[in-house]
Amino acid sequence: MKLPGTALGVCALMGLGLGCSSTQVRQAETLMGTVVEITAEGRDADLVQARVAAALAEIQRVDRLMSHYREDSEVSRINRGAGKAAVPVSPEVWEVITRALEISRLSAGAFDPTVGPLEELWNFSAAETPAEPPTAEALSRALAQVGWQKVKVDTAAGTVFLSQPGMRLDLGAVAKGWAVDRAILALKTPGVERALVNAGGDLRAFVRPGGKRWRIGLQDPRRPDSLLGEMEIENEAVATSGQYQRGFQINGRWFGHILDPRTGRPAEGTLSATAVAEECWKADAWATALFVLGPEQGWKVLSAAPGVEALVVSTDGQRHLTTGLAPRFRPASAE
Ligand code: AMP
Ligand code: MG
Repeated sequence: MKLPGTALGVCALMGLGLGCSSTQVRQAETLMGTVVEITAEGRDADLVQARVAAALAEIQRVDRLMSHYREDSEVSRINRGAGKAAVPVSPEVWEVITRALEISRLSAGAFDPTVGPLEELWNFSAAETPAEPPTAEALSRALAQVGWQKVKVDTAAGTVFLSQPGMRLDLGAVAKGWAVDRAILALKTPGVERALVNAGGDLRAFVRPGGKRWRIGLQDPRRPDSLLGEMEIENEAVATSGQYQRGFQINGRWFGHILDPRTGRPAEGTLSATAVAEECWKADAWATALFVLGPEQGWKVLSAAPGVEALVVSTDGQRHLTTGLAPRFRPASAE
């Protein structure tokens, strides 16, 4: 099955029909380093358009708070305080960090929002590919500055402290999902009947009771212009992590941007990991965690995460589906 339009990990194939008097507004913008596409429907086109604009503004707002690339973000302020001071943060940033650390605990550290020093060392967004991967010595130096247990969150004071100098928070595996959730909240207002927010493969849908479901396609990690299969979703989120999305090649070997915090190197053994959950921050974080863990270890830790279903494609091309997702996933006919 060929993928229509730009390949974004997940794509909305189509709404299953549009209510007769409904208008559809669709807008795409590059935000948070990816293409964010919002589709929303309702009777009053102006009102729907205004809600889509509000949803896009929410994504920009979350990016300003949580991007470690922005000097003035709260995350950058926390990073500047590493080893020195507990930094007061807004309730929203506090909430995301607290939830991220909970996923770190549940995933036995496979998901770790303190991978910042390792990401800096690998520098996947560098203009030029390095001649060699980092040395073992450089990796162990960076690894010494990683560890979710060294993040001290003070609930009463509303502060976050990176307890060791050189530590750096990187919310890249959860903030996009959080932003999608905020965008859905902005859309879920009277006058909007159904909506879909897709931030480069991390998406969440909203449908009013009795409304039509969304049909989404999941990208085949081996052939990114083709689909692995599709599924229908209502009020839930789907996020996908894949090494093919970002990385570089050195001497014929691909190094992808999702790191295994236990080794400091790109996680191996997985081609893509998709997680389904009620909220997108959670699907986003689990997709990354499951990418690192693979299906065998992943399914074990998922037992402590009710409401999360998953599909993992391992490097041998095998598809692994949780029992809750298997009946809902329709493989592409070409398979
Ligand atoms: P995603 O595309 O959602 O899987 O997120 C990948 C991004 O999250 C990377 O570009 C890093 O910024 C960060 N990251 C990489 N490895 C991990 C990890 N094991 N746990 C948490 N965040 C990670
Ligand atoms: Mg993620």
